[in-house]
Amino acid sequence: MKILGKLIIIFWLMTIVSTPIRAELRWHWESSFSEDEKRRLTSWIEQTYHAITMSVAPYPFDVHIHFYRLADTTGPVPWANTRRSDPQGVNFHVDPNFSTSQFMNDWTAAHELSHLLLPYLGRDNSWYAEGFASFMQYQILHALNLLSKEAIDAEYQRRLDKAESNYTFDQLPFALAAKKLRAQRKYPTMYWGGAAYFLKVDQALRANGGSLLKTLQDYIECCRQNSSDLNTLTQDLDRISGMDTFSHELSVFQFQPGFPKYTPQP
Ligand SMILES: [Zn+2]
Repeated sequence: MKILGKLIIIFWLMTIVSTPIRAELRWHWESSFSEDEKRRLTSWIEQTYHAITMSVAPYPFDVHIHFYRLADTTGPVPWANTRRSDPQGVNFHVDPNFSTSQFMNDWTAAHELSHLLLPYLGRDNSWYAEGFASFMQYQILHALNLLSKEAIDAEYQRRLDKAESNYTFDQLPFALAAKKLRAQRKYPTMYWGGAAYFLKVDQALRANGGSLLKTLQDYIECCRQNSSDLNTLTQDLDRISGMDTFSHELSVFQFQPGFPKYTPQP
């Protein structure tokens, strides 16, 4: 009994140490910002974060937001990237002289925060990670009532058409070509070819009463904290959705030559 009691206490301590009481946003002001700038930037991220948690699920860990000032540029967020080793978060390089609505209509926060919904899958699978975040950025702007459903569908199509017209590896499957696209710095082509994977998966799930966002909700709750690679993630998503859509489409992207074909349903 004594040993059992100790084991129970150790297990309980491990549980409370490894699980935050409530996952939160954590703020890091890496440059000097006025109180008003901090308030506006905080509000922008909080609204985007809230839209993601309502559309998908609460993050199971604290998300650390680092702000850097980068003035005299042509947009509110000239550069941003994720921090994937613990603690996870996003670096935002921002020009706070842009208006609140210009920040809200910029897709960067939705894109970068969405990256953190999936585990880091390695450099070779960046087409998958970037495709996912590119798909999600407009879903979240739609959830924020900043873009209509028609507008995001039109934007997906415009981006896919442009990516396809810039794709020059017709003999290669997209997952292989993605490495060359990255080396050639053809990032939009890599991002939006990758987004076609998620558009196709979402379409197939919707035809069976589900959706990508619903599948992700269960994934975040059961599996996001597990270490993962692309195959394990794909198996988890297939199992959760009760379909083999994720693995089927992955094999298409890995083995079928040419730019991925996505046909929107009316
Ligand atoms: Zn990205």
